[in-house]
Amino acid sequence: MMEDASRHRLLLLMTTTSYRAHAFLEAAARLGIPVVVGSDRPQALAAVNPAGHLTLDFAAPEAASHAIVEFAKTYPIGGIVAADDDGVILAAMAAAALGLPHNPVAAAAAARNKYRMRQILAEAGIRSPRFWRFPIDQNPAEMARQVEYPCVVKPLALSASRGVIRADEPTQFVAACQRLVAILHRPEVADSSRRSAQDILVERFIPGAEVALEGLLTDGTLRVLALFDKPDPLDGPFFEETIYVTPSRLPATVQEEIAAYTADVAAALGLRHGPVHAELRLNEQGPWLLEMAPRSIGGLCSRTLRFGAGLSLEELLLRRALGLSVDAYARERIAAGVMMIPIPQAGILREVNGLAEARQVSAVDDIKLTIPIGQEVVPLPEGSRYLGFIFARDQTAAGVESALREAHRRLTFVITPAAAPPGQVESQALVASGTDRLSLLGH
Ligand code: ADP
Repeated sequence: MMEDASRHRLLLLMTTTSYRAHAFLEAAARLGIPVVVGSDRPQALAAVNPAGHLTLDFAAPEAASHAIVEFAKTYPIGGIVAADDDGVILAAMAAAALGLPHNPVAAAAAARNKYRMRQILAEAGIRSPRFWRFPIDQNPAEMARQVEYPCVVKPLALSASRGVIRADEPTQFVAACQRLVAILHRPEVADSSRRSAQDILVERFIPGAEVALEGLLTDGTLRVLALFDKPDPLDGPFFEETIYVTPSRLPATVQEEIAAYTADVAAALGLRHGPVHAELRLNEQGPWLLEMAPRSIGGLCSRTLRFGAGLSLEELLLRRALGLSVDAYARERIAAGVMMIPIPQAGILREVNGLAEARQVSAVDDIKLTIPIGQEVVPLPEGSRYLGFIFARDQTAAGVESALREAHRRLTFVITPAAAPPGQVESQALVASGTDRLSLLGH
């Protein structure tokens, strides 16, 4: 059975804009696994390699699942992996139809809806903040009287902290709601979400340190692949991810408590199979879930993880998806981390300086800039991208953290206002380095 599955194709669901595509395709190539890519747009090479590509509408999972079942009659599929959030509901649905191990569709759908997730946790008696849901057109002043402070307003279905804003009192709350509503009305957001997905979720603000847990579920049992500390305080009003470092420096007992709580959350949501990525806060009351998704870590962050003799996270997940055992692969002992380089200011990215100097920081593995020079950059809460990623490895987590900070300090980003006429570019240029960023944000 296992050997058979490994000879079958693996269906990789990813949107054409996915940051995760490269890592998964590279992993499949290294493992020699035949892959069919299920994506939202026709691929140029699909006609010459019909077994390698399938165009699917992720927003219509029933029809897409049917198309997968039809495809599998000619080209058998031995496993399905969703590279990112967009494919998780379809992955669950198609895996069920093909008789492959999977998460219940309702569980995958709950993880994609922050309100549903909060409801389920509350019903299961799992530690979770108070929350309120409002239609997008409700009067913010009325909403402001119903919630408790401090709180965060957030969209139901965006990601990368986009639109998540803290409010400490009613005036801030009203401003935060208006800002979120404007984001939800942006064409690229409004077009891609259903009406009900445009509601506003408000949660009590949970103080405390934040961690991210990368896990793997097998028949409902959670294995922690890595626990990341996020050493930069995330107190708002916007919640910019910066540094992730693993292994965690938290005491072993706290790490065990986090793992047990995360397993309870997965069980309550009904997630049973495959990767989970969870973001949590910790305080004297214990761990609190911010979100859990049935997929692996986003962006380029998985590059920090290596298992056994150098297996990537994606290789591990692809092996697992084809039913092969991955129990023997533990994360390497060395500490590793990533910094997602925040966008300090809105405008056009004109120059990046200091790259060579930043790469020279010992323990820095690599720096990848992900926004081309000349493109517009949008900071949080409206934006959803990073300027790039800095990767480091060292004997200790503290060494990784300081290498990431030093590399970031050596980088300078020149950003000019988007509407500036060419002649004024020099005089209006804003030069932001790692240190400036802190003052810009008022930390
Ligand atoms: P996204 O899916 O866009 O990442 P999240 O709901 O995970 O949205 O929120 C993004 C970030 O905002 C979190 O990582 C956290 O730092 C902060 N945050 C969200 N909700 C809360 C909350 N209730 N209390 C404290 N911080 C929060």
